[in-house]
Amino acid sequence: MNPSCPTDTADTSAYSCLCCAPNSLSAGHTRRGFLGLGTAALAGGLLATTAGPAQAASGNYEAMLVNCIDPRFTTLSWQYMGLLHGIARDKLADNYSQFVFAGGPIGAIHPKFAAWHNTFWENLDITVSLHHIPRVVALTHRDCGAAKLAFGDAKVATKEEETHAHAEALMAFRAAVIKRQPKLSVITGIMDLTGKVDLIG
Ligand SMILES: [Zn+2]
Repeated sequence: MNPSCPTDTADTSAYSCLCCAPNSLSAGHTRRGFLGLGTAALAGGLLATTAGPAQAASGNYEAMLVNCIDPRFTTLSWQYMGLLHGIARDKLADNYSQFVFAGGPIGAIHPKFAAWHNTFWENLDITVSLHHIPRVVALTHRDCGAAKLAFGDAKVATKEEETHAHAEALMAFRAAVIKRQPKLSVITGIMDLTGKVDLIG
């Protein structure tokens, strides 16, 4: 196994990567079911993602990433998507859509940010219809200023409290996505300042 393959989560399906896959790289051509249909479909899907910027405005893309505007996580979230997709960083570009606002998925569902909600959900509908994404990757992060605004400092004072508050929001986000777009799968997690993600749900 490549040392870059993450081992810090029990949900290995979310981290399946090309470098860890058996020799079945020529099998399959679907980009759907990337996380759930086994190694052959996984590897075929990965090979199909390498077209990069030559792809059209509408087509079959891998995911929508929803995360926070915090500048500390710009590169880390991109690297995480690389791990998630199991392909080299230079092949990852232009294969997922991205929606970024304060708090990421917290901003999409918390009453504190109610004025933003419809904007997010309509954007989700558009990326589903245009890009045919099969999944949403929703990341909050540790030490998030927007989360503190939403929950109050006291609710995120310790790591345990922060995890609890974020997990509640992420589960609510997951349920709301599935209610609106039942065919989507949803990956939810909390990223720390090193880029490590604690998956939720
Ligand atoms: Zn934040």
